Amino acid sequence: MKRAILPGLLSLLPIWLFSQASPHCGADLFREMYAREYPELAQGSEHISNNFPLQTRTLITIPVVVHVVYQTEQQNISQEQIESQLLVLNADYRAENDNLNIIPSVFQNLIADTEIEFCLASRDPEGHSSIGITRNQTDKDNIGLSTDVHYLAKDGADAWDPLHYLNIWVADMGENVVGRASFPGTVPLPEDGVVIDPRYFGTTGLASGSAPYNLGRTTVHEVGHYLNLYHPWGSDFPDCDGDDEVADTPQTSESYLQECPSTLQATCGSLDMYTNYMYYTDDACLAQFTPGQKLRLQATLSGPRSELSMSLGCESSGTGNMPTSLVGVSIEPNPSPGELVFECRGREGVNCQLAIFDAMGRLLQELDIPANQPYPWVVPTSFADGVYWVRVEQGGGVIARKWVLIR
Ligand SMILES: [Zn+2]
Repeated sequence: MKRAILPGLLSLLPIWLFSQASPHCGADLFREMYAREYPELAQGSEHISNNFPLQTRTLITIPVVVHVVYQTEQQNISQEQIESQLLVLNADYRAENDNLNIIPSVFQNLIADTEIEFCLASRDPEGHSSIGITRNQTDKDNIGLSTDVHYLAKDGADAWDPLHYLNIWVADMGENVVGRASFPGTVPLPEDGVVIDPRYFGTTGLASGSAPYNLGRTTVHEVGHYLNLYHPWGSDFPDCDGDDEVADTPQTSESYLQECPSTLQATCGSLDMYTNYMYYTDDACLAQFTPGQKLRLQATLSGPRSELSMSLGCESSGTGNMPTSLVGVSIEPNPSPGELVFECRGREGVNCQLAIFDAMGRLLQELDIPANQPYPWVVPTSFADGVYWVRVEQGGGVIARKWVLIR
């Protein structure tokens, strides 16, 4: 795999880098920057794959909090503009967008309803009712390109519990970048989420003059990264060396930045799916996720971002404090040499049901353990070295964790 562009410069201020590199979407550059600063996080995230055993599940609704961090009054975007973005997210992730007809007929059978929806949070992490929007004024230029945006103490805005909310910071990102996002498990929790420039957020207000990126699909794309989708060309410059680890998105060496092809395009020996949300095509020409991408999105929501589906952020307040039951699971040590300790943190006095799966999704063993105390377990000798999953359930809450056996 090709290494980071401009190696050695990533430790400099990202603002400088972005002014030189013109990358449009900042997700990959920030991943490289974080990987240098937090190599242990980068290592862990490489194990996240499509292989999580999917449960038969209903729709997942992800609670969203929008942090408007503005320098000018114009950047202090309206609630209407924010709500217009939520409409686009919900339409596109449910394949209810009104431009499905632009998808070339060869790709019409690869349109997926991801069964993911979004709400503006109706309660905050303390259980108080909320409109899911925070507003803070800043003195800093282009704060969206800096990690300062994630901290109130640095003139930005603090995240809401990133395990249970998708945090979206809407903040100025200068002239070369429209948005960025953190891939699962790659950044410190307070910095986990999505950052979008206010000119490219939603479809009304400040966004209405931002053609060809005026239809809210920058956020659709960046939330795709947040849920572990890569660019179709992989994680570096577009060329035929890279891949997105999704089987039904053809390899490509074009990003289609500011393009909207009217005829079929081919690179790397196959037709390009430039209507896929993970390209840089004009907003009006983006229209689909694929079934393969849906698998990866759902794997993320069953694995590293499983706690989002247990959030009460979309429920009206006054029906209990969050969380009502399962709040976490620990597996120590991990990787394990053959003996490990589970601990399920949740409602006191209610047992947790553990189900252990291999990497192929085969159920191997079930355990019933008390909550909030360590439960030592000797891995049966029939288990070969490799990757396993444990699915933990208590009171309707479910968390899944990967663990690795290395004897
Ligand atoms: Zn991107």
